Amino acid sequence: MTENLNPFAIAQAQLDEAAEVLQLEPAMHRFLREPLREFHFSIPVRMDNGQTETFRGYRVQYNDARGPAKGGIRFHPDETIDTVRALAAWMTWKTAVADLPLGGGKGGVICNPRQLSVSELERVSRGYIRAVTRFVGLTQDVPAPDVHTNPQIMAWMLDEYEILVGHHEAGVITGKPQELGGSAGRSAATAMGGIFAIREAARVQGIPLAGSTCAIQGYGNVGSHAHRLAHEVSDLKVVAVSDEFGGIYNPNGLDPAVVQNHLREARTVKDCPDSEFISNSELLELDVDVLVPAAIENQITSKNADLIKAKIIAELANGPTTPRADKVLFDKGIYLIPDFLCNAGGVTVSYFEMVQNAYQFRWDESLVNQRLDNKITTAFQAVQKMAQSKQIENRVAAYLVAVARVAEAVRLRGWV
Ligand code: GLU
Repeated sequence: MTENLNPFAIAQAQLDEAAEVLQLEPAMHRFLREPLREFHFSIPVRMDNGQTETFRGYRVQYNDARGPAKGGIRFHPDETIDTVRALAAWMTWKTAVADLPLGGGKGGVICNPRQLSVSELERVSRGYIRAVTRFVGLTQDVPAPDVHTNPQIMAWMLDEYEILVGHHEAGVITGKPQELGGSAGRSAATAMGGIFAIREAARVQGIPLAGSTCAIQGYGNVGSHAHRLAHEVSDLKVVAVSDEFGGIYNPNGLDPAVVQNHLREARTVKDCPDSEFISNSELLELDVDVLVPAAIENQITSKNADLIKAKIIAELANGPTTPRADKVLFDKGIYLIPDFLCNAGGVTVSYFEMVQNAYQFRWDESLVNQRLDNKITTAFQAVQKMAQSKQIENRVAAYLVAVARVAEAVRLRGWV
């Protein structure tokens, strides 16, 4: 039977498994299987050539029982409503496992940012926020960056929103440039949270990190920061990294500064000096201590799970591993740090950004990182304890912790 790679079907299957272990009442289970609400819209954009192009956009507010919906906006040519639904569901479990007073949401636009000029990108960004202005807000839903969106895009969106509502409201969007109220440490936060989670996993597994080998798939905001931090904070030897064009490998380690320099010129990590070519699939199958998928969904599937040799998998991407692959990895004894725990650092510092905006007060980077460490370590330990006590996979354990919290909020509100 071919594997179902629809991300929302996968998110629902993961919930189903957790609901069974948790013995969740059927009405609650049915409620949590579907998004609370979603918005589908067209964004007409005047292109540089004078023609109007219509882009499709989505915003899904999956669940806001614990607080305003929270989650990024992706610009991606392969975006689908089911991808956005899945990512919004995972945001719900992510904010719950990190115990943030927030719900889960996600947005997306079907577009290829690589084919847009800077001014077209600005018009798509302003068009997106115009379309959702009446549905988002500090107390409703707070967007942030995700795949192919960045602080500049958040700045345009904030500006458009504030023009429309007629007042300043910096906390309506996070991941902003620091000049507009962004938090210190936000751009590195997802990677930094992952580094803390890897440290905890290595401790549990008795693996000394210094000098251990690591491979990172994906070299966007998350992957590139993870490379630098693995080097600076954990003393891990990163032997391979990749992007959508292919990867690079050096058994003696890849210097993050050299790769960054090459990336600036070449706009890809491929053909970086002091490295040999490696394909994305070869990278995943390398004999390394720590494997970090930091790209997109469905990278570790029933096709390659058996070939993975890493001792620890730290999922910095959302949804990189399919349910069938999960079973294979578990049987092989690989320690998996599931996505919505491993990559919760980004939304955690987004929450810190909202708090700082509310108080008009700035924390310095060391305070942000100290509080982030605290949040991630606490979440990690709750999941680890659950996995140990029930002898279950870490992903299922993370679901148990998160779903129990969301279900309790839903129950207290009297929704189900
Ligand atoms: N896009 C990030 C994620 O998937 C961060 C979301 C946020 O900061 O709201 O976790």
